[in-house]
Amino acid sequence: MALIDCKGVCLGYDGSVVAKDLNFCVEKGNYLCIVGENGSGKSTLVKSILGLIETESGHLHMGDGLKKREIGYLPQQSEAQRDFPASVREVVLSGCLASKKGIFFSRAQKQLAQQNMQRLDILDLKDKCYRNLSGGQQQRVLLARALCATKKLLLLDEPVTGLDPVVTADFYRIIEKINREYGITIIMVSHDLYSAVNYSSHILHMKKDGSFFGTVGEYLESDVYKAFSGGESNA
Ligand code: ADP
Repeated sequence: MALIDCKGVCLGYDGSVVAKDLNFCVEKGNYLCIVGENGSGKSTLVKSILGLIETESGHLHMGDGLKKREIGYLPQQSEAQRDFPASVREVVLSGCLASKKGIFFSRAQKQLAQQNMQRLDILDLKDKCYRNLSGGQQQRVLLARALCATKKLLLLDEPVTGLDPVVTADFYRIIEKINREYGITIIMVSHDLYSAVNYSSHILHMKKDGSFFGTVGEYLESDVYKAFSGGESNA
């Protein structure tokens, strides 16, 4: 059963259409990259998947028992967020907030935060202040936080913006590991077409006059890809 099934969805704000007739499906274990020009509605789609805004029409259905609060979300980072005055441990643990019962975090939640800091290789940073970390370290912390919120689906909105090429490559390797080894489904909004076709299994290319959805192989053969990439080969 698909984790997300999107049929004939129209997105917009107060009746003004941003994207129309969106059709795609995300199966368990997929790695979907959402690409497209600025303003094509990628972030709006992310907000709809998270349940922050309603779709104008069509069906955006969650399957396999997935609940919106079980989606691990890594938002685009603003400068203000990069300056957040909390310890790494506190930021990671805040990923457990949706499942928190009562005032305190449970032992299991603290263990989960510890496990995810280990997975992301940031355990030695746990008492450091988040605002004092490098951009790459901050992204690892936010990933560990998002992993505390989900065992099923990670949703990442332009996660490599502002990172240098070495840190970016490292980040993609981590996402690949999370997808392959931990079996977590990935949906990533990306401006980085080269990495999108190299790492993901499926592409949703959002366009005002009709979006493309298919496997990476199908996308590489498509006119949409050829026009967008200017005929460059990524093979
Ligand atoms: P992308 O992520 O592909 O750059 P967005 O989803 O951010 O695109 O934006 C798509 C369109 O929706 C843009 O024209 C943008 O101005 C508009 N938009 C985004 N957020 C809002 C909002 N809160 N209210 C009204 N219009 C918005």
